Amino acid sequence: MAARVLDGAAVARQIRSELSPSAASFAKRAGRQPGLGIVLVGDKADSQLYVNSKLRSAGEEGLHAAVSHLPASASLDEIVSLVRRLNADPAIDGVLVQAPLPDRLGPAALQHVFDVIDPEKDVDGVTPMNVGRLVQNRAELVACTPIGIIELLKRSRIEIAGKRAVVIGRSDIVGKPVSLLFLHANATVTMCHSRTEDLSAIAASADILVAALGRAGFVRRPFVKPGAIVVDVGINVVTDVDLAGRMFPEGHPRRAVFERKGSVLVGDVHPEVAEIAGAITPVPGGVGPLTIAMLMANTIKAAELRLRGNTYHGST
Ligand code: NAD
Repeated sequence: MAARVLDGAAVARQIRSELSPSAASFAKRAGRQPGLGIVLVGDKADSQLYVNSKLRSAGEEGLHAAVSHLPASASLDEIVSLVRRLNADPAIDGVLVQAPLPDRLGPAALQHVFDVIDPEKDVDGVTPMNVGRLVQNRAELVACTPIGIIELLKRSRIEIAGKRAVVIGRSDIVGKPVSLLFLHANATVTMCHSRTEDLSAIAASADILVAALGRAGFVRRPFVKPGAIVVDVGINVVTDVDLAGRMFPEGHPRRAVFERKGSVLVGDVHPEVAEIAGAITPVPGGVGPLTIAMLMANTIKAAELRLRGNTYHGST
């Protein structure tokens, strides 16, 4: 039987409709809208697209969002100074640095910039303070994609407690935080990565399988226990005709997209998995929309915490 499709776009719409009254209520009490400051460095087309979606969503939910755009030639000091300015701006409740930074700045640059963000304004949960609080299960601001995944499962009435969750990928932004969130939701968690041996057998032991590795169609049928819940986090643009052919047979509507555009957006999970999984998130329209909705939710939360002046005195 074909898997139930977990419609992330619909769930995100529902969350966003709940956020508008919260933003309006904040604005009434604070005399200003919740404010999001986005730092964008360089001209990467996909980063620009992500930023535009965030701006659009903020406008729709009644938040004030502004992009500070630096050229690709910007120095690390210039980026850090910009983040410090946003930290000090009383009208800004959330600071988001759009990843990636230009390669030229080196592999440590992004974390260096994250480290400067005021933890009270850290709406993507990337500062050591908020990561530490997540480990201790008392975080207020948690990375948007991981918290979006949990929200999608909860709102789809998928039980997490007691289940075996396997996460493929150990990045700071997805794999590690989502593993911790599953742990705090009382799942038994296994985190896998590029050096994991016998990956497909471990994955096939999962009641809930999260694929966050960034490899198009990597998770195939042998990775999945029949009936398992499969969360596909990957966002991959396939331009290779053979790979597109392996993922989508002749006549498949996504194959037609590839033939028309010369590329197709796919997840880390092969479409054949839908034949045996119990439920699956589509790409696009699964986890992605939740990420933006949770960014808005986190910004309103940060604004409220700042208004109350108690970010680090609240409970979990
Ligand atoms: P990353 O490159 O930082 O990390 C990838 C992880 O996958 C690493 O921990 C690595 O060990 C693991 N990995 C790589 N190859 C593997 C293999 N063959 N077997 C097992 N593990 C392997 O990636 P990321 O930032 O975590 O993103 C992962 C994917 O999720 C990407 O496609 C990214 O575009 C997507 N993403 C989507 C959203 C969203 O909103 N939907 C948000 C963030 C990231």
